[in-house]
Amino acid sequence: MAVTKSWQMTKTCIKCGNSIEAQPEDPAADKYPACAACWKEWTTYAIMVMNEMRLDMSLPEHRKALRKYERAFFGLEKGVAEVQKNPEKPPSH
Ligand SMILES: [Zn+2]
Repeated sequence: MAVTKSWQMTKTCIKCGNSIEAQPEDPAADKYPACAACWKEWTTYAIMVMNEMRLDMSLPEHRKALRKYERAFFGLEKGVAEVQKNPEKPPSH
């Protein structure tokens, strides 16, 4: 089992493709290797999503919903991609 772990040393931002160096410890950094700029962009977007959809982070279902948007934002999930392209038009539920 020769599993290379070199990716951990030079990560590439999954959103913009820039290489990431000296990433500060971030609980989500392993899941979504993102540069500081893109991560900041996501956190701004996340706040907007939370406001628009009235997500309560104390509720597991709401955290799960936000996770979906997070994955969509970083291009990992295609199901909700259209929301990302139309941030001013949140989906009605
Ligand atoms: Zn980036």
